[in-house]
Amino acid sequence: MTQKELGYVELEWTCPACNTRNPGTARKCTQCGASQPAEVKFEQAPEEKIITDEAKIAEAKAGPDIYCAYCGTRNPSTATTCKQCSAPLAEGKAREAGGVLGGLKTEPAAPIKCPSCGAENPAMAHTCAKCGAPLVKAAPPPPPPAAKRGCVGLPVLLILIAIIAFIVMGSRSKAVVGQVSDVYWRRAIAIEAFMPVTRENWRADIPADAEVGNCRKEVRRTQNEPAPGAREVCGTPYVKDEGSGYGKVIQDCQYQIFEDKCQYKALAWVAVPALVREGHDLAPAWPDKALGQDQRQAGRTEGYKVVFATDGRTYEYTPRSEDEFRSFQPGSRWQLTVNGFGAVTGVTPD
Ligand SMILES: [Zn+2]
Ligand SMILES: [Zn+2]
Ligand SMILES: [Zn+2]
Repeated sequence: MTQKELGYVELEWTCPACNTRNPGTARKCTQCGASQPAEVKFEQAPEEKIITDEAKIAEAKAGPDIYCAYCGTRNPSTATTCKQCSAPLAEGKAREAGGVLGGLKTEPAAPIKCPSCGAENPAMAHTCAKCGAPLVKAAPPPPPPAAKRGCVGLPVLLILIAIIAFIVMGSRSKAVVGQVSDVYWRRAIAIEAFMPVTRENWRADIPADAEVGNCRKEVRRTQNEPAPGAREVCGTPYVKDEGSGYGKVIQDCQYQIFEDKCQYKALAWVAVPALVREGHDLAPAWPDKALGQDQRQAGRTEGYKVVFATDGRTYEYTPRSEDEFRSFQPGSRWQLTVNGFGAVTGVTPD
């Protein structure tokens, strides 16, 4: 992330003694004269404008203000002795700085109602234009009552019941006698052919001998540092406390790097329809068709199935091997273990 600096804005602070809103640069309360205590935080003004005045920009860049170790007065960072008690400021403590205050407030803010005479004043005014009373900060609205904790127990309970039901159903097995009514086998050989295909890749990654077709620009990656031709993508500007009564306006940016993505033709091994052989007897065999030119085998699969008939219904069973499959002579009788879902979990000759 690149942090772009857009400039500085003036902050505010609220006097804890008289509740007056003061400009960030006022080190003493404009109403009661009290020095801003170190623990009173700077806040954003209702409307913020990036300052253009060179002298103010220099002040903003000067660094956090310093509190006198003897009398606690707030002094500019450039001062060497306290303007209140003349003590050297070398032992003083700098204001905390660097905290993020919030998004830059560029929208016009709502007017403020004077608490003394009720007149409406612009959001940025600190004293009433009509009666001169300080436009103290409105008390923050009371926090909404904490939402009642939702009942999380019920869904968990339902899932638990479902799991238990599943286990119980699966383990509730019964024994039945069945007669083999059908046998089925299927064997397949996967085939791949070496043939021309259309693919897509970044231009730099396309094999040199490939025939390149249509290309288009796409974002290949996003990086933190700017680069020629990159697209800049930035977040909302926000304000950081500089400790001097000013805030630094910052925008976090990233850079999208574009590259050509192209279609190209190349030769590759591609899956083509498999060779399949199947039957309803006990003599499974592999397909024996010869491979074509530029073809190769890409794996074999085999599957077996036996159907048992009992009075009124049928059960399917999947033998694990050809040897096991061959033992199910059509018409032979078997003891079947059937679980609660109707699946055959065991077979023994009757
Ligand atoms: Zn005050
Ligand atoms: Zn002092
Ligand atoms: Zn007023």
